[in-house]
Amino acid sequence: MALPLYDFIYFIMFIFKTVKDIAAYLDAQRAQGKIIAFVPTMGALHKGHLSLLKAAQQVPALTVCSIFVNPTQFNNAADLEKYPRTTEQDIALLTEAACDVLFLPDVAEVYPDGRDIQEPYDLGYLESVLEGAYRPGHFQGVAQVVERLLRIVKPHKLYLGQKDFQQVAVLRRLIDIRHLDVTLESVPTTREPDGLAMSSRNRRLTETQRSLAGLIYQCLVSIQSKKGMQSFSVVQKECRELLIHKGFRPDYIELADAATLELLPDYDPSRKMVALIAAYIGEIRLIDNLVL
Ligand code: AMP
Repeated sequence: MALPLYDFIYFIMFIFKTVKDIAAYLDAQRAQGKIIAFVPTMGALHKGHLSLLKAAQQVPALTVCSIFVNPTQFNNAADLEKYPRTTEQDIALLTEAACDVLFLPDVAEVYPDGRDIQEPYDLGYLESVLEGAYRPGHFQGVAQVVERLLRIVKPHKLYLGQKDFQQVAVLRRLIDIRHLDVTLESVPTTREPDGLAMSSRNRRLTETQRSLAGLIYQCLVSIQSKKGMQSFSVVQKECRELLIHKGFRPDYIELADAATLELLPDYDPSRKMVALIAAYIGEIRLIDNLVL
């Protein structure tokens, strides 16, 4: 009887917890000519994270994911404390998705000299607008951890989600001002069937909150569909009223230039635009965006 070549496919993923070990392993891989593709995450993984990994696997490359809940990017202590941590499940998901390497450091490993930023990053306008305005210090923390991770992993390619549109712009700037030798790839947002952008924070929504959360995407779609038909301020007001009526507390509903994030008072057909919303539902803050 002919036996099948194999009944199961086993994937092996290396897990490193120290900078020393991962750096040594990746140095050897790089020396063999491997392309290294890096997906930094804070864990509680979902299909959105896995879509970044999938994009990285197209290269083909040695794929490295990190899971690190970065304390310096939380401007709210309760948010850090309540951030979902599902490491065992994450390891299983990444192994099944054929990720090659997982970096799973603790805080002291990433911040051996403490968490203070020696010299703040010059993030310019990006730091004072939208998320920058509502989450003071957040992007300094993001830039700080990503620079550290990039200097440890030294990837050729960095994969980020468009879900965090402004974060992509901030990290593009980080790469530029710190002269980091890496190519940034941004990957479209993965959504639930009702349009809700997948997010680790969605796990904290109650059933009722979850049933309403798709409204943020519906507002973005309505901003998109009314382009050229209504003034943005009218659509913005409608969206704000609808969200508030359903129990949301919107931080912002804005239209911006997709390249610079300059806020736009109205639709401008001569530019590529992005609509961005941040709103609380209960104590969970959700953000989403749509390029028009
Ligand atoms: P996080 O773990 O939330 O820090 O996210 C890690 C990376 O995954 C970031 O680059 C995010 O933009 C990206 N990401 C998060 N959610 C999604 C999603 N729904 N679709 C695509 N990328 C995402």
